[in-house]
Order: sequence, then structure tokens, then C-alpha cells
Amino acid sequence: MALKDVLDLRIAIIGAGMGGLATALSLAKKGFKQIDVYESASNLGFVGAGIQLAPNMARILDRLGVWKDIEAEAVDLKSTSIRQGSTDEQLARVDLNYIREAYSYPHMVGHRSNLANSIYEGCKKEKAINFFFATAISEVKSYGPHPSFTAVPRKGGEPYNVECDVLLASDGVKSVVRDQLLKQTGVDAKIVDTGQAAYRIMLRRDEMEHDPELLKLIDSDAVTRWIGEKRHIIAYPIANKTIYNLSTVQPDRNFAAAPSATYTTKGDKSQMMEVFGDYCPMILRMLDLVKDGELCEWKLRVHEPLPFWTHEQTALVGDACHPTLPHMAQGAAQAIEDGAVLGVVLSKLPEASPEAIRKALKVYQDVRMDRAYRLVELAAANGRSLHLGEGAAKEERDRQFAALKEKKGGAVPDKWADADVQKMVYGQDVMKIADESFEELYAKA
Ligand SMILES: Cc1cc2nc3c(=O)[nH]c(=O)nc-3n(C[C@H](O)[C@H](O)[C@H](O)COP(=O)(O)OP(=O)(O)OC[C@H]3O[C@@H](n4cnc5c(N)ncnc54)[C@H](O)[C@@H]3O)c2cc1C
Repeated sequence: MALKDVLDLRIAIIGAGMGGLATALSLAKKGFKQIDVYESASNLGFVGAGIQLAPNMARILDRLGVWKDIEAEAVDLKSTSIRQGSTDEQLARVDLNYIREAYSYPHMVGHRSNLANSIYEGCKKEKAINFFFATAISEVKSYGPHPSFTAVPRKGGEPYNVECDVLLASDGVKSVVRDQLLKQTGVDAKIVDTGQAAYRIMLRRDEMEHDPELLKLIDSDAVTRWIGEKRHIIAYPIANKTIYNLSTVQPDRNFAAAPSATYTTKGDKSQMMEVFGDYCPMILRMLDLVKDGELCEWKLRVHEPLPFWTHEQTALVGDACHPTLPHMAQGAAQAIEDGAVLGVVLSKLPEASPEAIRKALKVYQDVRMDRAYRLVELAAANGRSLHLGEGAAKEERDRQFAALKEKKGGAVPDKWADADVQKMVYGQDVMKIADESFEELYAKA
């Protein structure tokens, strides 16, 4: 077969979540000319919720030319306050002002839909990117040398076959591509039910401003975490402080009956008030502002680690290969890092052959896998530490919190706020690493 020009490769992306959008944009910015994105939903349809915009995410989005719009509406975090949920007593306050200087970008928080829409708008400006909404991928027929799959239009029409040169599956935690790939290669790895669920809540400023304590929260530049046994709430203002975003984590009581089908459901307000019933009156007043019928609950699931993310000319991206609990606020950031690294490695292909593509995808995996799985583990460990019940481990954790309060320094038990961990998470420039290590890794692939 004659070798085609690398930039003419036909690239198919499954899923237009954060991972799929960032992958499409990063490939277009590198000059690829045919990038087709298949999304089962009829539009982006993001749930109303906030999202943390960590510096490692901001750095990439800035290079992709979409950070300015996101930043304009986001809130710059100056500190984090970790508090006892039952009393509102502050266990530790950690200053985050240093982050902008240390990592060139601040740690911000924003609206999920603003993040997604800004990347989407960036994609729409690229002639190379075509979106196929309301089109679900049902079956991967081949993973290479020219991957092919069945696309099913959801609003009628016949299923059709798509062939491409590179298949990138960013189809989320429930990834059908991952499941088919694992079956095909005989790997036994499953979805893991974490036993945890999350309520996601957004309160409007006008709902909070009558209450001075609540007004102070929405006016702060802080992310506040209220912790308790097996539960916590994390909250921060978004959308220029017009919305206060809360995300909780608690034992999952509602999904056990439908473990495989459902990931989100309408939450029950009275159950939420019961779950956080021993939290302090101020928090209960805030939770009580949620309107009956407007509560959304998410089941939190992860996946057993995979031995590989790539097979022939196909690769998994984002939650499809490293779903991460929200306790480090890095899941979307890591999916975006995947997309950015794919842009770097595919643009460095020395030729457009299937073998070169296979090797470049292997470089992507080599650059990304250990880091992403480290964050998966850190997030799980952070949840365990924040959710400790009475006992020696909690005493030690609280001793460390107390040392911080007394300005004696040391590790922050909430790893999200620990400067050494932040250095590893925010300080690493994965695009640079991919660029600099490409030749060596490619030669070994
Ligand atoms: C409560 C909570 C809070 C979080 N907070 C943060 C945070 O603050 N910061 C952060 O960085 N991360 C956070 N995350 C994690 C983050 O939301 C995810 O890691 C991220 O959205 C994953 O992106 P993705 O593109 O891999 O998958 P998804 O966003 O799930 O996108 C997958 C897409 O694929 C589509 N799709 C699925 N199957 C098919 C198919 N067969 N055919 C076509 N399309 C298909 C879906 O419709 C979807 O649009 C949080 C997660 C939770 C649950």
C-alpha cells in the first residue's frame, strides 16, 4: 500500500466528552485533516455541575487556544478550607496563591458546560473536525490495520460501517470499545463498584444571599471541604460567583438494585438530609435550599487497571481506560492530558503506515499510563483518608491537620491540597515529556 501523508490519516474518535473533544482539538491543531467524532447523545448535554480546572488542564487548554474563554468566567481559588462537617470547625486552611507563580496557571473552578462548550467551540473553528451527534458505536469489527466499526444513527436510518486509520475510543467509564477489546484479547478486568455515590448541587446566589453565613461562602475564593465518616461535601463558587457548586460523596444506597444499567438517578432530598443529618446547622440550611425533584445523584464507579490501552491502531482515552474517583479532581484533566499527548505523538509519526501508528500509540500509552493510574490510586486513597471513622488512623490524620493549623507545616492529609502532590500533578508538562521522549520510546515500541 502506498504510504499516505501522515496528516491525511483518517482519525475516528468515539465520544465527545472532555477526552474526545480535547483529542479532536489537539489533533486539528497539529494539522490533521480528517477527524470524525461520533457521539451517541444528540448534543453535548452536560449535567449542571462545577468542575475544578487544575493548572495541568489549563496549560493544555491554553496551548489549544480555548483557555481564555474558560478563564473569563471561572473563579480563581485562593485557598482551601478543610472542616469538620459536624461542627464546621476548621481543621486546616491551605493557601493556594502560590500555584499561579509555581505552575504559570492558577487553580480555578468553573462550570462544566462552559469548559465543554469552549473546547467544542474551538473544535467547530477547525475545518478538519466533523461531529456525528446522535450516532452510537455498537460494534468494533477490526482494531487494525484499518480499524472499522458499526455506527448506529439514533434517530432512524440504517447502521453503517466506518473505516479509519486510527481509532480513539473516549467513550467514558461505560466504554463499549474497552469491553469489546478486553473480550477480544482475553483480558479479565471489570468495572468496580466503589460503593460510593455523589450528589451534585448548584445553588443560585439569590437563593443564598438572605443568609449571611451562606453569602460568605459564595463570596469566598475558597474551596471548602466538610468531612465526616464515610462522607464529605466539597463546595466552591463558580460562574463569577453567581452559583455555589456542591458535590458530595456518601455511601451508595440507591443503585444496588440496578448495578449495571444506571449511573445517574434523581436523588431523594429527604435521604440526602438524613445522610448528612449530623452535619452542622449551617450546612443543613444550605442543603435544604435544594428543591425537591432537582437533586441529581451519581454512582461512582472505577475500573480495574488495564494491562494495555492500545491494540493495533486503536487506543482508549480518558475514563474509558482510567476512570478516577473525584477526590483529586483530576479525571477530566487526565482525559485532556491524554488528548494532548495523542496530538503530540501522532504528529511525530515518521510515516503513515499502520506499523508506525501502532508504535506511536504505544508511546502514548508509555507516557500516560503510570501517571494516570497513580492519580487513580491517589484519588481512592484520599477518599479513604477523608472518610475515616474513629480510630488510630483518624487520630493520626487529625494530628497532621492540627500541625498545619498551628503552622508547624508538614504533609496535608487531604492530598489534593498537599504541595508535594501538587508538584507532581500540576508541575508535569505531559506534552513536553511526550515530545522529548518520543524518539526513544518509539524506537523501543
Ligand atoms: C462527582 C464528580 C466530580 C468530578 N469532578 C471533577 C473535577 O473537578 N475535575 C476533573 O478534572 N474531573 C472531575 N471529574 C471527572 C470527570 O468528570 C471525568 O473524568 C471526565 O468527564 C471523563 O471524560 P471522558 O471524555 O473520558 O468521558 P465522558 O465525559 O464520560 O465522555 C464519554 C462520551 O462518550 C459518549 N459515548 C459513550 N458511549 C458511546 C458510544 N457507544 N458511541 C458514541 N458515543 C458514546 C458519551 O455520551 C459521552 O459523551 C468528576 C467526576 C465526578 C463523577
